[in-house]
Amino acid sequence: MAQYDYDLFVIGGGSGGVRAARVAAALGKRVALAEEFRFGGTCVIRGCVPKKLYVYASQFPEHFEDAAGYGWTVGEAKFDWKTLVANKEREISRLEAIYKRNVEGSGGETIHSRAELVDRHTIRIVDKNRTVTADQILIATGGRAAAHPALPGHEHCIYSNEVFDLPELPKAIMIEGGGYIAVEFANIFHGLGVETTLVYRGKEILSRFDMDLRRTLHETMEHKGIRILLHSVSQEVSKRGDGRLDVTLNTGQKLTVDQVLLAIGRTPNTENLGLEAAGVEMDKQGAIVVDRLSRTSADNIWAVGDVTNRVQLTPVAIHEAMCFVETAFKDNPTEPDHDCIPTAVFSQPEIGTVGLSEDDAAKRFKHLEIYRTSFRPMRHTLSGRQEKMLMKLVVDGDTRLVLGAHVLGPDAGEMAQLLGITLKAGLTKDDFDRTMAVHPTAAEELVTMYKPTYLVKDGVRVDG
Ligand SMILES: Cc1cc2nc3c(=O)[nH]c(=O)nc-3n(C[C@H](O)[C@H](O)[C@H](O)COP(=O)(O)OP(=O)(O)OC[C@H]3O[C@@H](n4cnc5c(N)ncnc54)[C@H](O)[C@@H]3O)c2cc1C
Repeated sequence: MAQYDYDLFVIGGGSGGVRAARVAAALGKRVALAEEFRFGGTCVIRGCVPKKLYVYASQFPEHFEDAAGYGWTVGEAKFDWKTLVANKEREISRLEAIYKRNVEGSGGETIHSRAELVDRHTIRIVDKNRTVTADQILIATGGRAAAHPALPGHEHCIYSNEVFDLPELPKAIMIEGGGYIAVEFANIFHGLGVETTLVYRGKEILSRFDMDLRRTLHETMEHKGIRILLHSVSQEVSKRGDGRLDVTLNTGQKLTVDQVLLAIGRTPNTENLGLEAAGVEMDKQGAIVVDRLSRTSADNIWAVGDVTNRVQLTPVAIHEAMCFVETAFKDNPTEPDHDCIPTAVFSQPEIGTVGLSEDDAAKRFKHLEIYRTSFRPMRHTLSGRQEKMLMKLVVDGDTRLVLGAHVLGPDAGEMAQLLGITLKAGLTKDDFDRTMAVHPTAAEELVTMYKPTYLVKDGVRVDG
């Protein structure tokens, strides 16, 4: 091993890369990590963290409204976008420094530069114009928002990277896409007082989530004032003399907005990375192909996180990185476990979900019991807010195994984390039934739905 400069060279200082570098360095390995932009990667710099901060910012107007029913008089509220952006920047810079320090504190070297492969063991540090060698290489270069070059006027549009640092808060925005990023930003901008239109080509927002939640969230968002146009795509964007944007949709509808945000998918960062020279295979989407242990077609090169296009979530990238270190450096081959991943959509109201949707479960199980409840959460009683909370358990009628748990409403993301443990542990509906409720909470409904709301037999709903 000593013939190489490093035992491990990591390309990409995001969620997966930082974790792998830190843990491998702590084992005493000679580790270097190259990051071309900012340490912390998408999640910290322009993903999960700033997004959640903006979600919090956007919730205040409803909190102010709700306060009246509890006896509060709130004076005139004003929002300053530039303050939010500056405070966000301060927080992500703090986290960025921690990420970098953690690698260095474990004995790893951090290199602020783009890195590319020259061959299976050689890496070019682009900004420093030198090469180094490594025994093992980990590619953790993540992904970026998919561009839309076929759209006339796409150069006037922005992507999730830019959206966090817009110089001004737009008065009107069109967001194209129906995934969680598009939906979350629609709620953020609406909450901040922006006239918001969500344009999605599909038949309902948030494909892959339970249809009940998708429909209910859609209705709730529309009720708040977010315009949602389904079966729609933009066909042309043009800039007017006053700087505003005219958008024409396939339906003939025309919109005039200040910004168009395209959130139509993610593309793996694999261009010009030297993968061909190193013998690393990619799939048709440009994602790195890996085996179950995250090893690429070159046996000393590994890949984790979004660049492999498995499940694009921060905890998944981190888990894959931990498994990689076990496999490559601890002689303990460990496959990442992608089964039953709890997840949240930070829409307003929020979604928290784990396991199978009703539709997916119906394709795989003959007998389903569906437990479903929809109610006004206690916090909305005095506030007068009409929003409903929805909870749903999908249960295998033969084994009583809970296959899916879905929540729409306040704190649903927090609930999904705990529900995730119960599904991962393979708990049955009987285990839920014998769990004492926590009162008064909304979550207690999850353990007090004793009778199925309806059954699904061979894919067909049977009421009563
Ligand atoms: C708007 C948004 C919101 C999100 N919200 C959530 C959420 O709420 N929850 C969640 O779990 N996930 C969320 N995600 C997804 C999450 O951010 C990613 O799944 C996660 O960051 C993937 O980690 P990674 O290590 O694979 O890649 P990244 O974190 O993307 O890190 C890759 C790093 O590699 C660097 N890089 C690329 N090429 C090179 C090169 N050649 N040389 C050197 N450096 C290079 C990049 O600059 C980047 O810093 C969100 C993503 C977005 C865009």
